[in-house]
Amino acid sequence: MTGLSLLSGPDPRAGMETAAAHLSRLGPLPSAGTELIDLLDRSDLRGRGGAAFPVGRKWRSVAERGGSGPVVLVNGAEGEPLSRKDRVLMEARPHLVLDGAALAARATGAGEVVLYVGAEHAGAVSALRRALAERPEAERRSTRIATAPARYVSGEETAAVHFLNEGVALPTSLPPRPYERGADGRPTLVQNVESLAHAAMIARHGDRWFRDLGRGEAAGTALLTLSGAVAVPGVLEVAQGSTVGEAVTGGGGLGAPARAVLLGGYFGGWVAAEQAWGLPLDAPALRDRGHSLGCGVVAVLPEHRCGVVESARIITYLAEQSARQCGPCVFGLRAAAAAMHRLAVTGAEPDDLERLRRWSGELSGRGACHHPDGAAGFLLSALRVFDEEFLHHHRRGGCSVRAREAA
Ligand code: SF4
Repeated sequence: MTGLSLLSGPDPRAGMETAAAHLSRLGPLPSAGTELIDLLDRSDLRGRGGAAFPVGRKWRSVAERGGSGPVVLVNGAEGEPLSRKDRVLMEARPHLVLDGAALAARATGAGEVVLYVGAEHAGAVSALRRALAERPEAERRSTRIATAPARYVSGEETAAVHFLNEGVALPTSLPPRPYERGADGRPTLVQNVESLAHAAMIARHGDRWFRDLGRGEAAGTALLTLSGAVAVPGVLEVAQGSTVGEAVTGGGGLGAPARAVLLGGYFGGWVAAEQAWGLPLDAPALRDRGHSLGCGVVAVLPEHRCGVVESARIITYLAEQSARQCGPCVFGLRAAAAAMHRLAVTGAEPDDLERLRRWSGELSGRGACHHPDGAAGFLLSALRVFDEEFLHHHRRGGCSVRAREAA
């Protein structure tokens, strides 16, 4: 079998694929147990929620805790504002997600599966409910749906566990990590829906098949969400290792001249357009180059939009979305958002730009979760890519893009 995997078959826009259609297209789910973990190791499947952690290693860490009752927490919170890929997958291929969850439960010895889905993703919740009704009774009895509050940090692993335990979708400090003590104090596998769907395909077709889908050293395919200055925004499946430029071409090409690309979402970072096109869409390769694939967001900023204004909007959003539990979020992130807003909109104070440069290095590694780290990385990329625009805003109190257009 060649070609793409998760979204091959009927057009995802046609809605949910029924159990009958799913089974006739892909065949029954193999009865794999713990041996699937070795298969996942060999496949080099990495998590698609943002951290790109090896999936086999994650499953093994839960399976090895043993005990009577691990939990599989299927993470479909998708709180990243620019991402659509998880909800498209849940709406169109809910049985593939449920297959992956069932395999994870078998391989880790879990007796319970929780589908943790963003409350605003009504189409995904409805498709999963309908799909669940088509599954065997034993699976229906051990699976439930929990709706995640619409908040950026709701999908963070410890926030998801915290929500199940106490109804509060806010991150908690580590350790213990969810695989050690998670939902109801039990070892908990928190796994993104796309990762589980890939696992279900690997169980059917093998590790070699999956690796061969990728380009060069990269394994498999990835779901991307294209937005901004592309002709056809939306969700696209690409071979891992193909380039950002090829993905944009797959989305119909540019809809306007591009200034920069936001790669990986709000926790990713800006890349100047001319440098972005040749970058490989593969988490380890991007990390080596100082970038992140994150949750697969590729957002193209057109030349006529100001990078300072866009970045200020995103930093303000991240400051508002923090749990406001720790110093870097309560003080640092809020102050950075205020300085960015002054620079972008109302007029900068003399040392705003210098303070932003300092904060971009100081915010990381100090919160209970990675929220401030993600915001700091984003800020650093904005200062680097829009260096000239920041200086223009700082010195002249106005926007270089508007000045250029007026000239
Ligand atoms: S670092 Fe920020 S988002 Fe994370 S737990 Fe602390 S206050 Fe909340």
